Formats: sequence, C-alpha cells, structure tokens
Amino acid sequence: MITAYLTHPHCILHHMGPEHPESPARLEAIRARLSLCGLLQQTMQGEAKEASFEALERVHPARHLRALEKCLPSKGLAAIDSDTLMNADSLKAARVAAGAVIKGVDQVFRRQADNVFCAVRPPGHHAEATEAMGFCFYNNVAVGAAHARARHGARRVAILDFDVHQCNGTIDIFKNDPNVLICTSFQYPFYPWRYLRSEWHNVVNTPLESGCDGAAFRASIERHWLPALHAFKPDLVLLSTGFDAHRDDPMGDLCLDDEDYHWVTQLAIEIAALYAENRLVSVLEGGYNPVSLASGCEAHVKALLGLPFATPAA
Ligand SMILES: [Zn+2]
Repeated sequence: MITAYLTHPHCILHHMGPEHPESPARLEAIRARLSLCGLLQQTMQGEAKEASFEALERVHPARHLRALEKCLPSKGLAAIDSDTLMNADSLKAARVAAGAVIKGVDQVFRRQADNVFCAVRPPGHHAEATEAMGFCFYNNVAVGAAHARARHGARRVAILDFDVHQCNGTIDIFKNDPNVLICTSFQYPFYPWRYLRSEWHNVVNTPLESGCDGAAFRASIERHWLPALHAFKPDLVLLSTGFDAHRDDPMGDLCLDDEDYHWVTQLAIEIAALYAENRLVSVLEGGYNPVSLASGCEAHVKALLGLPFATPAA
C-alpha cells in the first residue's frame, strides 16, 4: 500500500486560546509519535494546498463563506459560538485543512497513492452548510466528497465517521442525497444535540451508550454499517477519523482502544478494496488527549499502510 500523509504548516497557526482542547499541540503530538515509531517515514509525505472558494462553495453557500470571512479578527479572538473561536489565521488553516482532503482525493483517483491520511485542523464534521460550530469552520470531508464528484466523476461516496460526536454538519450537507452514504457512530445522547435520529435513507446513525467498549462498538459497526456499505458499493471511501472515542480521551465516555481504531480502519480498507479500487481518504476530526490521540493515530496509520496492529519486536 502507498499511504500519503498530508498536512500544512498553516494548520498550527489557528488557535482558540491557551485553555482550548482543540489546540495546535494535537498535530505536534501526532507527528512526534508517528516519527518516533518510524511510520511517518513509511508514508509519502506531502503538503496540502488551500481549497479554492469554488471548491468550498460546492458545500457552503457563497454568502455564508463571505460572512465567515467578515468574522475574522485582525488580532485577538472572535467567538463564533461558545467553543468555536477565530484568530487572524483561522480561515487560512481551515482552507488548507479542506484543501488536504481535495489533494488526497486527487492522489487516490490519479493512483499516486492507495490511501491518504490528512493530519489537519481545524476539524470539519460539525460544520453545516450555513453554520460554523463545534470547533469546525469548513466541512473538510464534505468538500472532498463534492470535489471527487465534480472533478473525478465519483458516483457513490461513502463517508464513515467514528468520532465520539455525531457528524451533524456532514448530514446537514448530504441528507437525502442518494449518492452519498453517511455512516456515523457516536456517544448518545451527546453533542451536537441535533440530527441524532435517522430520518434520512442515506444516513446510518449508530448511537453508542456511554461506557461502550471495543467489543460492543465492533458488533454495532458490523451490524449497522456493513450491510449498508455492501448494498451501496462506494467508488470512494472517506473517513472522518476522530480519536475522542478513545477510553483515555477527556471529552467523551466511550472506551475504544488503539486496536479498535486499527480494526475499523481495516474494515474501511476492505470496503475500499472491494468496491473502490482501494481509494480511501481519511481526515482527522477530534481527539483531545495528546497521548491517546497519537497512539490511536499510530494504529490508524499502521492499518492504512497494511501493517498488522501488533508488529513483532525486531
Ligand atoms: Zn469529536
């Protein structure tokens, strides 16, 4: 497997204050861990480009995009909601975060890579068509899906989201679209407190109880996601990869382990191999304990590279 690893220096310019859990240190923790364990060196590392206004406009109306730009402070922080803030560089970071998914989609359709991990922030899956919220400004995975359809003729895009929070933004954008299948597992009841019921034929909501462990998570995914994915036969698989469902994450109360992240990544890879000529692009969403964020990422990238979870000691 050729796995591309995409990021951009602008991703760390965005910050929301010293106490905010969605901090630039998250990407530094991931990079340090992947580099130390030698996985980063096995990936094809690349730099994302900014998403164009046209690419963002496929999922966010132009008026909303301009309104967001008007909120940018020239210095200090501007609050979009109680936990989503902007500094002067926030949209610069958000443009390369969305642009990473676009580049990843280009790479898998051009066969330059089998799969791609976008180590970017701000995250995107809470961003609705006309509302920035939940640490998210542009819906990165949705921008990537729309790009794949517009530029590469993708017909059926599956978006798998295993963040502890449900992807209200992705659902808001693609609800009732028969050519996008959204499978989302999440702690219930929990933020975002909207879109939590399955009312759309193309959305597979998989609510998980507080305290849910890996075995229960895996059983739910197999029961709810696999039949939908085999029926849908995606020609592109996109992952909204959040690590805040990890047992050591402070934000949620689910109890996944690193090995569960390896397992769910492998499951997605198998679907991509069956129906999508391996095309799979993963983008970072949540994950707020730097240690479990980085170890979960290690398991995820290991699976993307086609390596087993437990690598025998050298
Ligand atoms: Zn989350």
